[in-house]
Amino acid sequence: PELAPGDQQLAFELDRQHVFHSWSAQAGRNPVVLAGGKGVRLWDFDGKQYLDMSSQLVNANVGYGHPRIIDAIKRQADALATADPKHAILARGRAAQLVVEKANLTGGEFEKVFFTNGGADANENAIRLARLYTGRDTVLSHYRSYHGNTGAAIVATGDARRTKNQYARGHVHFFGPYLYRSEFWASTPEEESARAVRHLERVIESEGPETIAAILVESIPGTAGILVPPAGYLAGVRALATRYGIVMIADEVMAGFGRTGRWFAHQEDGVIPDLITFAKGVNSGYVPIGGVVIPPAIANRFDDQPFPGGLTYSGHPLGVASIVAAIEAMGDEGIVENAARVGKQAIGPAAEALKAKYPDLVGDVRGRGCFWAIELVADAESRAPPPDDVMARLRAAMLERGLLPFVQNNRIHVVPPLVITEDEVAEGFGHYEAVLAGVLAHAS
Ligand code: PLP
Repeated sequence: PELAPGDQQLAFELDRQHVFHSWSAQAGRNPVVLAGGKGVRLWDFDGKQYLDMSSQLVNANVGYGHPRIIDAIKRQADALATADPKHAILARGRAAQLVVEKANLTGGEFEKVFFTNGGADANENAIRLARLYTGRDTVLSHYRSYHGNTGAAIVATGDARRTKNQYARGHVHFFGPYLYRSEFWASTPEEESARAVRHLERVIESEGPETIAAILVESIPGTAGILVPPAGYLAGVRALATRYGIVMIADEVMAGFGRTGRWFAHQEDGVIPDLITFAKGVNSGYVPIGGVVIPPAIANRFDDQPFPGGLTYSGHPLGVASIVAAIEAMGDEGIVENAARVGKQAIGPAAEALKAKYPDLVGDVRGRGCFWAIELVADAESRAPPPDDVMARLRAAMLERGLLPFVQNNRIHVVPPLVITEDEVAEGFGHYEAVLAGVLAHAS
């Protein structure tokens, strides 16, 4: 777009004056102004460029300005920009077919998709399906998790955002694996995995298996710290769900659609959940949309009995058209494979090198594909998080250098668009290293 002089300040001031923001105290905000983007680069109205290591909220999987997705949205808008979910439109059926195809890549039997407006209502409806299917009430989910900001999804969430929003009933939390800060006194991934599964079984026994409708887990908890589960953990959850007739819901809202170098993160673990929720990367967030992937066993329950749920924008034409284009483009352009390769050859080694170089600042690194966390500590011994002002200074320094970061608590999440090259990863890590060195220089 044309960069009009003056729009930088206008965008900033209008936002400050009139936009009420998520999860934040409204006064004193200092938003980054964005005017445009292409690939992994963004810029403001003054022409300042940023290398994007955030993918916004970990959703812009194909990066910015992807011509095929934009063209598909334009063509669908010209043909029919809105349509009642009960009518059949070609793009909706095709989008559902493509999502199901990807969900079945490692042997599932998924058949249908219920489209939603985003990730929270995908989880909301998956929980509803599980409750209706089992005739049970309780939903188990991780303490370290984020599932969205609606009635049941926010109470299923494990982090502190839940505690201010406890308006839904029937939610119980349990601890998942996190070897660096093990709840189970484990010192190896094998111990962590086995003990976390045992803990979940004790929770199921204690709550009463016959009361539990669903176990809802992010295949890799994202916002909570990109907590890649040790081998065997998801299989252990799957086995418990099967044993007790509980619906296993894999929340793939953040981890899905290539983020981890697989179409779905759980496919790496050889596990097939009962329901999958998705949003974000399915169309790189070009239009808000999400959904629940459903196998016949659950979908058929509603062949004769109506499903008691719906949304005006379930399968919105612009959303589904963008899904078709995004999935086809990701396939044709090898974008999922690129995420896997860049993760193995560039992000992983660079993160490990940072940890080796700054052991008293980088406590742990972990991840897969373009989904990595660099966990910072005050010192290697205590593993205490650095003070908040250190994280704030790091973020400001990264922005100053032209890197758009994703900073969460005491972590830098390395979550660029999946089209990033190895050279661009090196550029990003050059900035990370410079700002970490700056923190240490400041401390000494
Ligand atoms: N589930 C996970 C794993 C997420 O990361 C998010 C958003 O960050 C959600 C659900 C909620 O998605 P949305 O914000 O689209 O409602």
